[in-house]
Amino acid sequence: MNRVRILVLNAALGPLDYTVPEGVDAVPGSVVIAPLGPRRVTGIVWDEGRLPGTEVPAEKLRPLLGLVPVPPLAEPLRRLVEWTADYYCAAMASVARMVLSSGGALGGPTTTTEYRLAGGEPAGRLTAQRRQALDRLAGEQGTIRELASAAEVSEGVLRGMVGAGLIEPVEVAIDRPYPLADPDHDVPSLSPDQSEVAGRLVEAVRAQAFAPFLLDGVTGSGKTETYFEPVAEALRMGRQVLVLLPEIALTENFLARFEDRFGAAPVLWHSSLKSTERRRAWRAIAQGSAQVVVGARSALFLPYADLGLIVVDEAHEISFKQDDGVRYNARDVSVMRARFEGLPVVLASATPALESLHMAEIGVYERLELPSRFGGAQLPDIHILDLTREKPPRGRWLAQPLVDRLAQRLERGEQSLLFLNRRGYAPLTLCRNCGHRFKCPHCSAWLVEHRLSARLACHHCGLETQVPEACPECGEGDCLVACGPGVERIADEVAELFPEARVAVATSDTLGSPERAAQFIAEAEAKAIDVIVGTQLVTKGFHFPDLTLVGVVDADLGLEGGDLRAAERTYQQVAQVAGRAGRGSKPGEVLIQTRHKDAPVIAALADGDRDAFYAAETEARRDAGAPPFGRWAAIILSSEDEKEAREAAIRLGDVRPHQGDLMILGPAPAPLALLRGRYRYRFLVNAWRSANLQAALRDWIGRAEFAPGVRVGIDIDPYSF
Ligand code: ADP
Ligand code: ZN
Repeated sequence: MNRVRILVLNAALGPLDYTVPEGVDAVPGSVVIAPLGPRRVTGIVWDEGRLPGTEVPAEKLRPLLGLVPVPPLAEPLRRLVEWTADYYCAAMASVARMVLSSGGALGGPTTTTEYRLAGGEPAGRLTAQRRQALDRLAGEQGTIRELASAAEVSEGVLRGMVGAGLIEPVEVAIDRPYPLADPDHDVPSLSPDQSEVAGRLVEAVRAQAFAPFLLDGVTGSGKTETYFEPVAEALRMGRQVLVLLPEIALTENFLARFEDRFGAAPVLWHSSLKSTERRRAWRAIAQGSAQVVVGARSALFLPYADLGLIVVDEAHEISFKQDDGVRYNARDVSVMRARFEGLPVVLASATPALESLHMAEIGVYERLELPSRFGGAQLPDIHILDLTREKPPRGRWLAQPLVDRLAQRLERGEQSLLFLNRRGYAPLTLCRNCGHRFKCPHCSAWLVEHRLSARLACHHCGLETQVPEACPECGEGDCLVACGPGVERIADEVAELFPEARVAVATSDTLGSPERAAQFIAEAEAKAIDVIVGTQLVTKGFHFPDLTLVGVVDADLGLEGGDLRAAERTYQQVAQVAGRAGRGSKPGEVLIQTRHKDAPVIAALADGDRDAFYAAETEARRDAGAPPFGRWAAIILSSEDEKEAREAAIRLGDVRPHQGDLMILGPAPAPLALLRGRYRYRFLVNAWRSANLQAALRDWIGRAEFAPGVRVGIDIDPYSF
């Protein structure tokens, strides 16, 4: 009798054994439905001998209920699931859930009902809500829920309209094909540098063997145009391509360029995809009909039928690191996927992560360089504005030389960008009468005032409250004082200085949806905006030819706090935002406001000496035993009960390993000691490159017992310290 071991998609259950009924073709990778008590569970047939489990006697096994009609997960993907779970100390089931998109992509009917306007003139008078729906839903098609959110009316209103014949149902096939991309639709002529790099990548795509590349090109060098050539080659060979982008809400510019080049849109994958779109994309990816997938980090784990190339654009971005659930870094996992599948992978960036540069230095990655901007555009001039000498007046944040430059740009009709990585109006709000500070009840964090929405918000758990009229502590009315600047406050300052200027705030609050982002880009391109004030969201991707001034409001902001990568991150952010200036024919200028003009990172930015900065950083990391020389991991113990969390930390501390190649710090309250209502304690573990860090951590945690309310999280290569 044929027995199989199943990876059940539920981390709490562990692997289970079943028998395979006659006529069921269950091979490793097959997605199956299995009985579990009175329930049915989804799982994946795993390779013999690769999943732990106890030998249950054959007569006690139940038969599988059947196969899910999707292609079996290929061997390289199964190895990737195993590697990811092992490396990041996560449950294999949790990784497998990402492959199957939490199971939501499987099964279900082959058609789905969507709705659209029925057309024709409505008889009689319309309510305001129905009028609004008619106005906003022209050309839209989707589920009632999706249409309700698009029209900003309730689902009830739309159901009423279906009843009245104003909206009609349409049956659509889940598997309707995507428009075909044409590799030769509109081939650009590349510069000699670009051609050379593209040629090397095209060759690697033809070879179809593991080949990791670092595409190291300055801002505006045309990295996208260049890597589109190997994408085209993969298409000619009939293979699929995955392009990972860090901020999927802001891909308008990328999508437009993709369509210009290939004559059709790529297949999108991200977490806010509509459910039917998600199923459609997943199935097309698994069947091989999705040619180019452009996605956020979760697109990395999808079951591509025939992948030929992976590109990670803006590969240095920290949003490739997932910080809950499976805590993986999509940049690193994409290289592993390429290795398992035998593919080229391209990490593209103007400011590569130090780890990636190191890999290029030691010859593991092949480095391809684009040292100059496309079309003769010059890199901007960078000036340091020393705030210890040029103090802005009280309650203002822009020093006079920056104000003068802004005035000059307004006069010339050119655009400016002010960068401050702080959403909202002010990072801290207090009562002028009693000094009460507004704090999140669920997190150790201040509430941030957002004047545009008249709310106080926690940036960690999403809590939002109305700005109170009186202080909750002392009862004094109209007493709130804002401390420090956020982007909204800088926008106010610009508006006061230049009442005629058209100012736009660009943050995830104001550009959260693709529609609003597209509108912002259109306005900026049409020059309906003079000054953009934005967070890290505006540091990448934008190409506004008439933007000639970038002001970094506070370059010291990122240097505070004990983050191992603080200097590197500051370098990357400032270099990226500086890269928005002078991308057209007019030269750009960058002013960096700082109180630490002699800090190595600021000096490196001023001199444009990236190599010197990275060399100094590399030495500092080597001395600290930090990546890429040593490794760090964090263990976070959390509970809703403070005492329970603390006791768990003490208990784990009591059984800590005493290994020469591990250094363990803690326990101590985590930097966010309270997060989303959970109290958090943390250990930091530093290991030599040679140590088996993961095995040591698993073994250590396995020796302690915790109260049921305690959660244990392991973060390998943590980003936030
Ligand atoms: P990067 O991503 O390296 O900062 P981009 O890919 O955004 O640079 O390119 C900068 C600008 O130059 C874009 O507007 C792009 O369309 C244009 N460009 C780059 N290479 C070419 C080319 N070979 N032909 C035409 N336009 C190009
Ligand atoms: Zn909070």
